[in-house]
Amino acid sequence: MTLSRSGDGQSGSARAHFVLVPMMAQGHTIPMTDMARLLAEHGAQVSFITTPVNAARLEGFAADVKAAGLAVQLVELHFPSVEFGLPDGCENLDMIQSKNLFLNFMKACAALHEPLMAYLREQQHSPPSCIISDMAHWWTGDIARELGIPRLTFSGFCGFSSLVRYIIFHNNLLEHVTDDNELITIPGFPTLLELTKAKLPGTLCVPGMEQIREKMYEEELRCDGEITNSFKELETLYIESYEQIARKKVWTIGPMCLCHRNSNTTAARGNKAPMDEAQCLQWLDSRKPGSVIFVSFGSLACTTPQQIVELGLGLEASKKPFIWVIKAGPKFPEVEEWLADGFEERVKDRGMIIRGWAPQVMILWHQAIGGFVTHCGWNSTIEGICAGVPMITWPHFAEQFLNEKLVVDVLKLGVEVGVQGVTQWGSEQQEVMVTRDAVETAVNTLMGEGEATEELRMRAEDCAIKARRAFDEEGSSYNNVRLLIQEMENKTNACG
Ligand code: UDP
Repeated sequence: MTLSRSGDGQSGSARAHFVLVPMMAQGHTIPMTDMARLLAEHGAQVSFITTPVNAARLEGFAADVKAAGLAVQLVELHFPSVEFGLPDGCENLDMIQSKNLFLNFMKACAALHEPLMAYLREQQHSPPSCIISDMAHWWTGDIARELGIPRLTFSGFCGFSSLVRYIIFHNNLLEHVTDDNELITIPGFPTLLELTKAKLPGTLCVPGMEQIREKMYEEELRCDGEITNSFKELETLYIESYEQIARKKVWTIGPMCLCHRNSNTTAARGNKAPMDEAQCLQWLDSRKPGSVIFVSFGSLACTTPQQIVELGLGLEASKKPFIWVIKAGPKFPEVEEWLADGFEERVKDRGMIIRGWAPQVMILWHQAIGGFVTHCGWNSTIEGICAGVPMITWPHFAEQFLNEKLVVDVLKLGVEVGVQGVTQWGSEQQEVMVTRDAVETAVNTLMGEGEATEELRMRAEDCAIKARRAFDEEGSSYNNVRLLIQEMENKTNACG
């Protein structure tokens, strides 16, 4: 793909300078690294704000953008973890040992206000044109106003879920609902949508969340627009309704993961994987196209040990080849014992288990993958859509239940495994919510031969084609990136 560059200095005008401030959690940082790459590929300059521990995780990304000659600069600010009662070096949400420390973490983030402001004031040779910051970094709204530049938010949600979230919070919809199992109908939503309170966003039980939410939503009303990692053709109705209800521009510029065009850069996304990527590719190469099911629950979901065992037994019973990413870690030694006590041996001819971090996109996009068991985090969902494979949905918490509705009921790209309850982030609940039989049935449906499955597959392939069309030259997302850069460039030049 050839990109005609805007703002490259040849016309004598300043190029747009975007300041990206991601939330320090993999599901929020990774799409913003893709965003940085995308904006820079289209000719913009990018300052990517991070902290030392997170910068170390971004080494692969930094090396890639450097090798590609892109104008992306990583800006490291000291993260005041100790000052806010966090262990030294605790700079990412996935490092928080107890959810009671969530508020401390968010306060430490807000303390980046001063150093970020100081850094941005120093950039006189190339002043920032626009801040794109995570919705949770409400404090960046002040910075944008002080500098007289726009702030766009990024929540990591798709349009469908953003619209539900907006309606719920700006109408205080859950305020007087005491029963978690009460069925709520979302008023003003363009299609009928009903979910229990527990499955809606806003029920995350983390001490201090309310304070943060209030500030986030106050600032949301003042921001100049939103960036969404989706594409218009996927959810036109919901994106348009969201723009109308929120009365702001929603820039759909995704699927941003498509900025990766080879397995080297996909493998470098996020943390360093503990396994040999070449070996993993070799294993996949040895499998028939569409024969392997990939199972991964993102970076934060806490699947209980009992549930992990049950899932494993379901995979075993399905007799299908699989790659299974397990994040149990030292917290759950019983899972490790169970794996070693016969399971790994029994499935070794067809199962690959990855402990910790997996190069998810590299795996998902391999032709051997024929299905994806996902927790429905939006990044995983859109990566699955780009892979063109049907999904088994297994939401845990947050907006994942909404993404499940979009995937299963609206887009018809997958089947539910049948999760009834919420597995809260950081909770210690012990029940098994999905039985091995339910796993076996869902896997066999998805990887089987029936007419319904064939239709799922065809729709998934069709959706992947639409995603690529939107992203490639002259597609809706491609054009939006260019318009966004143009708009910020015009503003910069008008001020300068
Ligand atoms: N991811 C990955 N390897 C893993 C786990 C996650 O590469 O082992 C990536 C995944 O591809 C996605 C992001 O981390 O880009 C997770 O984001 P998502 O929104 O799916 O879920 P979250 O982690 O926020 O719950």
